[in-house]
Amino acid sequence: MQDIFTTDIRFLKGIGEKRAEGFRKLGIETVGDLLSFYPRTYENWNDTVSVKEAPEDTITAIKAIVISRPMPIKTRSGKIMYRTCATDGVGIMTLTFFNNRFVVNDLKEDEEFIFFGKIKTNDLGAKEMLSPKYEKASTAAYIHPVYSQNALLSSKAIAKAVRTALESLSEKLTETLPSDQIMKYRLMSLKDALRSIHFPKDENEIKSARRRLIYEELLTLQLGILSHGTAEKEKTAYRITNDHTKQFMSRFPFELTNAQKRAVSECVNDMKLSSPMRRLLQGDVGSGKTAVAAALMYNTVKNGFQCALMAPTEVLARQHFETFQYLFRESGINIELLTGSTTAKNKRLIKEKIMSGEADIVIGTHAVITSDTVFRCCALVITDEQHRFGVNQRAALKDKGENPHVLVMSATPIPRTLSLIIYGDLSISVLDEKPKGRKEIKTVAVPSYYHERIYSFIKKEVRAGNQCYIVCPMVEENEEGVADRKSAEEYYELLRTTVFSDIRCLLLHGQMKQKKKDEVMQAFKNGDADVLICTVVIEVGIDVPNAGIIVIENAECFGLSQLHQLRGRVGRGERQSHCILISDKENETTKKRLDILCSTNDGFRIAEEDLKLRGPGDFFGSRQSGLPTMKIASLMTDSRILYAARDEAQRILEADPYLEKEENKTLKNKLSALFADIS
Ligand code: ADP
Ligand code: MG
Repeated sequence: MQDIFTTDIRFLKGIGEKRAEGFRKLGIETVGDLLSFYPRTYENWNDTVSVKEAPEDTITAIKAIVISRPMPIKTRSGKIMYRTCATDGVGIMTLTFFNNRFVVNDLKEDEEFIFFGKIKTNDLGAKEMLSPKYEKASTAAYIHPVYSQNALLSSKAIAKAVRTALESLSEKLTETLPSDQIMKYRLMSLKDALRSIHFPKDENEIKSARRRLIYEELLTLQLGILSHGTAEKEKTAYRITNDHTKQFMSRFPFELTNAQKRAVSECVNDMKLSSPMRRLLQGDVGSGKTAVAAALMYNTVKNGFQCALMAPTEVLARQHFETFQYLFRESGINIELLTGSTTAKNKRLIKEKIMSGEADIVIGTHAVITSDTVFRCCALVITDEQHRFGVNQRAALKDKGENPHVLVMSATPIPRTLSLIIYGDLSISVLDEKPKGRKEIKTVAVPSYYHERIYSFIKKEVRAGNQCYIVCPMVEENEEGVADRKSAEEYYELLRTTVFSDIRCLLLHGQMKQKKKDEVMQAFKNGDADVLICTVVIEVGIDVPNAGIIVIENAECFGLSQLHQLRGRVGRGERQSHCILISDKENETTKKRLDILCSTNDGFRIAEEDLKLRGPGDFFGSRQSGLPTMKIASLMTDSRILYAARDEAQRILEADPYLEKEENKTLKNKLSALFADIS
């Protein structure tokens, strides 16, 4: 049987080359594309008003009887327009149509119609509708679909094509969902849902149809994401046999939080199994993800294997390197650092050590470790990422060694709905607890005339031994970030020579040589400077527990999650920390955003709000890929359906890992089509 979903739309009656071109511009090539080109919105012709009560200049529906046949009238410009009158029994309105000779035949005397358009009242008090849409009252559809149209195709033409498709092909529409699911969730059949989403009888029908179609979309998506994992399950991995966590804990300078202990044991349990771990470690800034990574690496090495840790930036890689060197001192564990600025000669030496197995732990930037680094026995790969990698990019990771265990540490908390999509193929451990003794960071948002006060506050704190970050004003970016550098340099010069002439300032920006950056960071860490004037290069992961103040200029230019991440640079020690957001923007959204930050330190809540304010596309910025676009579901409103779809997808794949059973066949087809675009 021919699959009607993949049938070319030119096969439909009434669609020739020109129409087909219009459809192609809308991304519609097959009947399936057409049927899933859902209405943008609906016109409700149900709520009719009387002529008298119709609000001025607002689109409304009026039920009225045509009083006389439309008469042609020549306009001054020589065009023909048609005019007639209609009454609802009380009021009368004039109806005027341009360029539509069909009205003469359509609008018959004494027949009742629904007119849909804007009412205008002229100076003499007469009511008029200009070119209203109309339909015979006795047979009118009360809800009309409105499609995104283009120059070649009107919404009406699209509706017509959809109707043709539904009428001529509906008996060929095979149900895509297994019948037990339809029963369980009381879903509409596919056939009914498609008819109802395009030509609904009432609002309830739209709701039910949407529910069914959203469910199907999310189920397919989850099946796709989860089946990335199914293939994995088959393969064996490096199994951890001995748990050395206790030993690690005795080296760690603090008591691990309960959340850290739980995360470590969840991971170790995964790593004891015969299939590789695939896990996401989610935790707010400062929740101590590094310690979890350290515990796992310690375990891995003590079991005789190697591991790799990949960081998004050099500064961060170096910081991790130093942390681990300190933690693992005198343990016989050999740690190497591999980044873009490692000299060619050293790179070669280090890579030799990695290949021979002499290096136990390799820490570096992502690109360097993934390119041509060959391990002897890499059992664990940890990425400390900025939620930049999608499902597909992660696949590249697996090529390191024979299916190592994989742990992804997300630097930013992500709302659960989004993590099910982006990290849907991973199990999740959450650090929902901060190390003991942390105080909430006090956050305020102030306008720029507070600068003087802020500067004196900083000076006072510095005298008490505190350190401070000042994140520079954002400037328009240019290609090499020159403007960014300039603004940071200028600001640094200004502060250093005026208000802060008596305290120690340092400058850090992205265009500095790596060596210089490291020197600056190290000096600041060692307490050799009081104030670090910097650009957003400090955003990710930098850990200087003694820094207790962060000032962020032009706070309105940053995303909420980014601000939260920046703020996470402080609040790492025992003293009270402060975050000062400076912004002169008065508009409501800016205020709302900054208020959220002032009112909570909970990264998950902030992420939810950020998602609400920006939408999922912007949440990740343009860099996020590997995310199929959704036609009907919304992560904002459909989270409950998403969770249900997730559970069902898991159940289906458990029983039928490759979707080979007859009842899952149509799902499998849909799935291949969905993921064909992104892989
Ligand atoms: P993040 O989750 O943001 O990566 P880090 O791993 O950088 O957080 O940890 C933040 C700070 O908390 C570091 O200074 C680290 O040494 C400290 N820390 C981590 N775990 C604990 C703990 N259990 N008790 C006290 N301090 C801890
Ligand atoms: Mg970190």
